[in-house]
Amino acid sequence: MILKTLYIQGFKSFLHKTKIDFNEDITCIVGPNGSGKSNITDAINWVLGENSAKSLRGSRMEDVIFSGTDKRHGTGFAEVTIVFGNDDGAIPLDFKEVQITRRMYRSLESVFMINNVKCRLKDIKELFLDTGIGKDGYSLIGQGQIEGILSSKPEDRRQIFEEAAGVSKYKLRKHESELK
Ligand code: ATP
Ligand code: MG
Repeated sequence: MILKTLYIQGFKSFLHKTKIDFNEDITCIVGPNGSGKSNITDAINWVLGENSAKSLRGSRMEDVIFSGTDKRHGTGFAEVTIVFGNDDGAIPLDFKEVQITRRMYRSLESVFMINNVKCRLKDIKELFLDTGIGKDGYSLIGQGQIEGILSSKPEDRRQIFEEAAGVSKYKLRKHESELK
C-alpha cells in the first residue's frame, strides 16, 4: 500500500483545492515557518478520523475550517481526500486505489466516504486496523513521539507492537463480542 495523493480544500490555511502528489521515493515538504507544512499532516490525521481539536493543534474542532484572511472570507466547510494505492491488497477492499474523504461543515457535521460512497467513521477505522495507518497507528510519527515510544510504559509499547503484528483487529472484535 502506498500513499499516492492528498487533496485539501478549505482546511486550515488551504483555501483552494490543493493536490499533493507523493511519489514512490521520499517526498519532502519544505517551506518557511507558518507556511502550512504541519497543516498537511493535520489533514492526514483528520481525514482518517482524528476528532480531538487539541491533537489537530486547535482549541475547537471548527478551527480546522479555513477562517479567512484580511482579503478572503472564511469557507463553510473543510474537505480532505487521501488516496492510497492498494496493488498489494493491504487494505481489505477489492480496489486498486482506495480514497477516503472527510467533509465537515461549520455545524460540525462530518461526512465520511470510502471511494465516494458515504460510510461511518467506524468503517474507516476498521479498514485501517493493523495497517499502521490511522490515529493510533505508527505510520505518522510526530515530533517528540520517538522519545515517547522509547520511554513509554510497557503496555503502551505493546499496543504499538500489536498494531504492527496485526492483532489489534482481533482484540477489538473480541472486546466487541464480550460487550454483546
Ligand atoms: P513551522 O515551520 O513553524 O512548523 P508550518 O509550515 O508547519 O510552520 P503550520 O503550522 O502548518 O506551519 O501553519 C500555520 C499557519 O496556518 C498559520 O499561518 C495559521 O494562521 C494558518 N492556519 C491555521 N488554521 C487556520 C484556519 N482555520 N484558517 C486559516 N489559516 C489557518
Ligand atoms: Mg510545523
